[in-house]
Amino acid sequence: MTSASTASPRPFHIPQPGSGLYCGAVSLGKLARQFGTPLYVYSADQILERLRLFQQAFAGHDTLVCYAVKANSALAILALLAQHGAGFDIVSGGELERVLAAAPDSAGRVVFSGVGKTPAEMDFALESGILEFNVESEAELELLADRARRLKRKARFALRVNPDVFAETHPYISTGLREHKFGIDIRRGLALYKSVAGNRWLEAHGISVHIGSQIRSADPFGAALERVHRLVRQLDRAGIPLCSIDAGGGLGIDYHGGSFDAAAKVREYAQALENALDGYTGRLLLEPGRFLVAQAGALLARVLHVKRNGSKTFVITDAAMNDLIRPALYQAHHEIVPVRPRAGKPRVVDVVGPVCESGDFFARDRSLAPLAPGDLIALLDAGAYGMAQSSNYNTRPRPAEVLVEGRKARLIRRRETIADLLAPEIHVIED
Ligand SMILES: *Cc1c(COP(=O)(O)O)cnc(C)c1O
Repeated sequence: MTSASTASPRPFHIPQPGSGLYCGAVSLGKLARQFGTPLYVYSADQILERLRLFQQAFAGHDTLVCYAVKANSALAILALLAQHGAGFDIVSGGELERVLAAAPDSAGRVVFSGVGKTPAEMDFALESGILEFNVESEAELELLADRARRLKRKARFALRVNPDVFAETHPYISTGLREHKFGIDIRRGLALYKSVAGNRWLEAHGISVHIGSQIRSADPFGAALERVHRLVRQLDRAGIPLCSIDAGGGLGIDYHGGSFDAAAKVREYAQALENALDGYTGRLLLEPGRFLVAQAGALLARVLHVKRNGSKTFVITDAAMNDLIRPALYQAHHEIVPVRPRAGKPRVVDVVGPVCESGDFFARDRSLAPLAPGDLIALLDAGAYGMAQSSNYNTRPRPAEVLVEGRKARLIRRRETIADLLAPEIHVIED
């Protein structure tokens, strides 16, 4: 048994009765006093623990874990992952700039996904020398060849194929069906690789697949990889050997916490992939995002008011949908825990933010320990697609971010100011 398999699913815990909630060895109450709220807090230790699970589960293959930057693109987190051997999956030129700012030597471990790459983004990635472009259409492949020819830099590419497998998840984050905008119909893959085989500016480097996000079962990953492996063997026979298979990301977590065993989940996922890749000896790329960072993070908020309207009780916090949009966007569930629980009977409440939208809620009809103005709460499992999807709606400065490493907490992004928000705007004051 590795220690990881017995570890708690989250780093947030109450070490002793009455001590309040901690992230690892650091008190959240103290962090709130020091840095204010709303505040994102992440555990570096848990992120690395999750990275190691992936790196070790595929020990039989030459494996590169390319963290999906869009899940949480904080420079400090990118640097942490790069130091421990991760590569990166990016979906924009901006994300490539982030990766190079955080880890200047990691271009050779970057794969570039996304359905709408611009010529400028392609040029930047070609000049940086990324590992491969995951190409999502025939037109994109033509454009890539053209940019590579102009820059006289050969482009390594992988076709992102669409395997037409159904993955049970929220419809907004399911991507592996023929009707979705993502990827190239796998049935056209062989012909497309063949059609560019003679192009001196394109190198058929790999093949990739990504069927969606927050997928709880390992089966659809196995089904997708089986289809991809079949195509790889066909390509081999056709004289087009590939260096790598990129299995994408998408492995889900349990937002309800409880008995979630991350190590067992990764083993099950690895087994499904290994079964599908039986006999494959090339390199394996993986693109986990959420699984590495979601449970490592919490959004810390302070209760502003407790208000009754008719039969309902609303707990209004200083965090809002602009800070964490997942409940509003995907009807997502986040566990909410008081940092210092009060005695008393639980009450059924809505936890909401101050933004002028009825969609601005974190929980509806949730039974929580009693809360009063001034109390701190933690919204758990907010490390992925939290800060990354935040906005300035209602002219709200985005939260600060803190990374906890062992006994130390480090500010990795200062709180925005209103001046930050106004800075790009152009206006004329008439007198
Ligand atoms: C979003 C995305 C990922 C990561 O998905 P998670 O669900 O966060 O693991 C990986 N690869 C591609 C191409 C993506 O678009």
